[in-house]
Amino acid sequence: MENMWKVSVRGVRGAMPRMDRDYMNYGGNTSCISVDCKEEVVVFDAGSGLLSLSEFLQNQKLKRVHILLTHLHLDHIMGLPAFSLLYDPEAEVHLYGQKPENSAFQTQIGAVFHPPYWPLSLKDCKASLHIHELCAGESFSIGSRLHVRTLLGSHPDPCLYYRLASFGETDKSIVYALDCELTKEMENQLSDFSRDCRLLIWDSNFAPEDIGQHRGWGHSTWEEGVRVGRTANVKQLLATHYDLHYKDNFLKKQEYRAKQSCNFIEFAREGMEITL
Ligand SMILES: [Zn+2]
Ligand SMILES: [Zn+2]
Repeated sequence: MENMWKVSVRGVRGAMPRMDRDYMNYGGNTSCISVDCKEEVVVFDAGSGLLSLSEFLQNQKLKRVHILLTHLHLDHIMGLPAFSLLYDPEAEVHLYGQKPENSAFQTQIGAVFHPPYWPLSLKDCKASLHIHELCAGESFSIGSRLHVRTLLGSHPDPCLYYRLASFGETDKSIVYALDCELTKEMENQLSDFSRDCRLLIWDSNFAPEDIGQHRGWGHSTWEEGVRVGRTANVKQLLATHYDLHYKDNFLKKQEYRAKQSCNFIEFAREGMEITL
């Protein structure tokens, strides 16, 4: 069990948080999933779900975290300004994201993490902050054991998908593909990118019956995730990033339908943990 990875679901919602009672079974925080890889903690996206990670990291001996951002839509970054680790002088925070064409990644984040939108700015962070600008297709390492590949996404604004893997351990691999509109070309690319991975975390923003009216919004369905998962031979599929209008009873019906047609799909709920 020593080397097991622990995947923790911290935010499952797209667009905006929902904290009403009808959303609490699946959860109302926006996108954030952390992976405790033992020697390193890796986080996919920094939605409002990121805040629950603060408590976990404050109790760690090594306060170091690597946050991989798919893109800068608010639901994927809104947890950053209130992430207490950023203000902790003993902490080390690495932020990764796509290098913009005509600007710097840090400038783009700093534009919203700044008065008058927030009382503090990036320069007020006391943690040792490392910004990593990535080009789509680039690969990099985290520490001596983790390897990350990137893929250019399909979304209205620039977006990256990630494949996190452990050197030499084939059972430890995660593909994170939020937010994604599935064109034929994207489906082929994602099927290759996700080949034989242990866990595919999938944009399931719209129910299959609703996607028709939302073409061009940059999102997918759980059904499309099942298709990619089968082609790519993934072991487990995790549906998440639910539309902000989908209440628990609606999602429960979707989950039931999905599980009737696929034996490797799970619907993400906040607080859920998956061990790899
Ligand atoms: Zn989103
Ligand atoms: Zn988005």
